[in-house]
Amino acid sequence: MTTKDAVIIGGGIVGVSLLYYLARNGMRNVLLIERNYLGSGATGRCGGGIRQQWSTEINIKLAMLGREIFANLSDELGHDIEWHSGGYLIPVYTEEFAQQARKNIELQRKLGLEVELLKPEEIKSIVPQFNPADVILATYCPTDGHANPFKTVFAYAKAAQALGTEIWEYCEVQSINRKGTCYEILTPHDTVATPILVNAAGGWANIIAKMIGIELPTTPYRHEILVTEPVEHFLDPLIISFDGDYYFRQEHNGGIVGGMGNPDEPPGINHRSSLHFLIEFSHKLAKAMPILRDVRIIRQWAGLYLMSPDSQHIMGDINGIDGYYQIVGFSGHGFMLGPISSKLLADYITDGKRSEFIDAFSYRRFEEGTIQKEVSVV
Ligand SMILES: Cc1cc2nc3c(=O)[nH]c(=O)nc-3n(C[C@H](O)[C@H](O)[C@H](O)COP(=O)(O)OP(=O)(O)OC[C@H]3O[C@@H](n4cnc5c(N)ncnc54)[C@H](O)[C@@H]3O)c2cc1C
Repeated sequence: MTTKDAVIIGGGIVGVSLLYYLARNGMRNVLLIERNYLGSGATGRCGGGIRQQWSTEINIKLAMLGREIFANLSDELGHDIEWHSGGYLIPVYTEEFAQQARKNIELQRKLGLEVELLKPEEIKSIVPQFNPADVILATYCPTDGHANPFKTVFAYAKAAQALGTEIWEYCEVQSINRKGTCYEILTPHDTVATPILVNAAGGWANIIAKMIGIELPTTPYRHEILVTEPVEHFLDPLIISFDGDYYFRQEHNGGIVGGMGNPDEPPGINHRSSLHFLIEFSHKLAKAMPILRDVRIIRQWAGLYLMSPDSQHIMGDINGIDGYYQIVGFSGHGFMLGPISSKLLADYITDGKRSEFIDAFSYRRFEEGTIQKEVSVV
């Protein structure tokens, strides 16, 4: 039997960043358990986008703090995470979303975010190759950006290990028994006893929660994505459209990586790729960026969004279940909001620091019925 002060289940961006922040706060006898390799879940499959352009006050504030972390992370962790502050451009195609975009911008500016409202003809000053046909307006925030998900995960993991924490990869949590104030976690490697258990299992979080008798209000959905062959660097911002239902950006090596949602996607854990996505998204990409029409697609894959009822994550503890914490349900934005949320949760676990974010993203909002849906999502 191994004994630890805390155990984190899940080696995605959320788990590894939490491991690092707990260690930085002085809690070092901590173990992270990952059933596959680090980043093998949604994190290593995601678009790597980091934006502050949200529709709710709490998400804008959290994202601004989160962006600060990314901008300084290569220096802090001592590994290059390929942070690129190329901005986010958000074209809008319908009057309903245009109204929402105007409201968003007002709130974002009030909170101190630098964001521009562009007429369709002004978009070319940001991205000359973009096709503005059918666009009503666009918003643009130059301080948004993107980073490399794998490099970010490895940088956090290495920094956390250097502080004395431990990571078990290729080790699946099979069951959890609660014994008094202690959790016994069964894995093929060993049984681990701990007073603090954190569920950071991404799309599999419901399965982990069920092991200790908790029903989460979250649902996993497949999201597909692809990458093209590398082309010469020409695209700085990540371009995302909520009503156009697409997003894409250029990677460090030149490939264009992008995807879209699918309103007809059934819930469930599914990592298969579809021809439907390949065809639909290719059309959207070629329409938005005609210059990419003849670029070859080299690979497509899929990952999981763990959707919550208000498209916002759930973090903190649950009344009556001592020592259990969760940081789950990031929907489509856990890469950008994962590190800041982990940092806040680490402060809560180690020092009992209860920030406004711990309250806002608590599980309790579903019991109290105080939810406000985030609408700026693909
Ligand atoms: C196609 C796509 C594009 C996306 N684009 C973006 C984007 O541009 N920006 C953004 O911010 N977000 C994006 N997201 C969302 C983002 O990827 C996720 O919200 C985020 O990665 C969640 O991180 P996580 O650590 O919670 O989960 P994960 O990365 O899924 O990590 C959870 C880990 O838990 C492990 N695990 C599960 N069960 C067990 C078990 N029993 N025992 C041990 N380990 C277990 C899994 O193997 C997995 O590695 C995208 C997602 C997808 C699918």
